[in-house]
Amino acid sequence: MAAPRPPRFDAAAEEVARTAAAATDWPALAAAATPCVACPELAATRQHVVVGDPPRHGRARFALVGEAPGATEDDTGRPFVGKSGQLLDLLLAEAGLDRADAAVLNIVKCRPPGNRTPKTPEVARCSGWLRRQLELLDPPVVVALGLSSAKWFLGPRTKLAEARGRPHDVGGRAVWATYHPSAAIRFGPSGAPRAGLLEDLTSVARSLAS
Ligand code: SF4
Repeated sequence: MAAPRPPRFDAAAEEVARTAAAATDWPALAAAATPCVACPELAATRQHVVVGDPPRHGRARFALVGEAPGATEDDTGRPFVGKSGQLLDLLLAEAGLDRADAAVLNIVKCRPPGNRTPKTPEVARCSGWLRRQLELLDPPVVVALGLSSAKWFLGPRTKLAEARGRPHDVGGRAVWATYHPSAAIRFGPSGAPRAGLLEDLTSVARSLAS
């Protein structure tokens, strides 16, 4: 997997990776991640560690992986429940996908202040949790929502426009890179990101049905 490896000198990242690897199931991982303070700035400003949602039952058919929680997610402790989440739910339904079949995750589990982009060490530290989540839930398909997520899976030089529209084999999983729903909101209902996100989710639905 192309996810950033923690730098050797980053003891906090090593500790996260070690703790996450010791979790043998989702509840254990969620319990271990909830008090995480590996990123001092995020730990001081967040309301909740937004660990993510496992599928409602059984193995995840696919995973939705965004960048980081926003304000509503930080308030509630749940991923993709604000405006972006509402649009995502709408487009998932239009594409014929059921959120209940998905793991809903983020690269970084704590809200960056002012919704700034997560810093490289924060991504590296939190990657330990995400790697273990993917191991435990083992989704065959991943939808990487937005550029940060696409880069986590496909590498730092990834360009969304080039990566979209086809699955990429990453460690045996089919990774689809597409727009983040917040871009679809920013560019409006007639904007290219919304149409592209729906198109990509529809392709994912087709691939899961075949
Ligand atoms: S962002 Fe991730 S690694 Fe950093 S404090 Fe939150 S849970 Fe821990």
